[in-house]
Amino acid sequence: MSQALDRFRSIRDKVEAGERLDMDDGLALYAPEVPLQEIGALANLVRERKHGNVAYFNINTHLNPTNVCIYRCRFCAFRSDLRDPKGYVMSPEQITARGQEAFDNGCTEMHIVGGLHHKMPYEWYRGILEQLSEEFPTIHLKAWTPVEIGWFEFLAKRSVSEILADLKDAGLGSLPGGGAEIFHSEVRDQICEHKADSHKWFEVHRAAHQLGLKSNCTMLYGHLEQAYHRVDHLLRLRELQDETGGFQTFIPLAFHPENTQLTEIKKPSALADLRNLAVARLMLDNVPHVKAYWIMLGIETAQVALQYGADDIDGTVRHELIYHDAGATTPQMLSVDRIKELIEETGRDPVERDTVYNAIHRDPNDFRRWETGEALLAAN
Ligand code: SF4
Repeated sequence: MSQALDRFRSIRDKVEAGERLDMDDGLALYAPEVPLQEIGALANLVRERKHGNVAYFNINTHLNPTNVCIYRCRFCAFRSDLRDPKGYVMSPEQITARGQEAFDNGCTEMHIVGGLHHKMPYEWYRGILEQLSEEFPTIHLKAWTPVEIGWFEFLAKRSVSEILADLKDAGLGSLPGGGAEIFHSEVRDQICEHKADSHKWFEVHRAAHQLGLKSNCTMLYGHLEQAYHRVDHLLRLRELQDETGGFQTFIPLAFHPENTQLTEIKKPSALADLRNLAVARLMLDNVPHVKAYWIMLGIETAQVALQYGADDIDGTVRHELIYHDAGATTPQMLSVDRIKELIEETGRDPVERDTVYNAIHRDPNDFRRWETGEALLAAN
């Protein structure tokens, strides 16, 4: 028996006993000779211990106020130069219209991220939150990654904690998980050497958690990284979670090469997607949720992922640009009925949640009205 297979037997014993896995375990889980189905079954055990048969979704929309960006991350197909005809900056009227559309469709969340515009001041970014929270107070604003917060720190000459407290006053509800890519400098320096490094990423999430803001975390895989970098990435996330407990959900993000500077790299296979998801479920024992982001995985793989460690399939989604600019062929959105049906087809029970994992109970006579029910966040 190979070393990796031998190791896998001890990993199975550890997981069944509720023990924590280490770096060598993580590396063994990425060894090709360890069958994916075995890893998936183990991840499913953890997933069902935490969440039973439930699979979560939400009703959400995306808002990317600008695609103009000072940086040129090699994996990014979304960004635009300042004078490129592709570049845009949304007006307050366009932002209100987007909020109204979200409200009319029963959205509980807006996911707001974008480029770092060469000319827009900090007040413009803050003003977007203030405007939306005043006009649509029932919609949770999950906004700005550490890359943007680091940029605001530079623009406003204020500390990360001061910026976050100020954005919270303006309506910020939580932080998305983006900008993490791969933390290890051997990879990060090759794909996005200029933007916020791993220290900044963790500084922002730690400060957010200390202010009582929940956040998500991600990992962009399938480009220049090796298994070692992925496991290292997961262990760094687990360490902060031990300290703060502020992460809700881990979302593995597959690299999509189209229209990026890395077009020679092939998009990861569905098997690689499932392995990354399952390994994350096994390594991140203290992060409550693992999400199969259907926009990026494709609907069929996201469905299978619900048996490979994922307990959340993201939301109905509207106006997703970042993955579609990079060649994603998934639809722009799913209806609520369709997302429930997709979950039910896998044998799981769909539960609508809000951004911070409370159950949502809709008024049967008016879909736009809802009550927030019981907390669904599984114990660590
Ligand atoms: S990933 Fe973000 S920071 Fe990097 S170029 Fe794209 S928009 Fe800019």
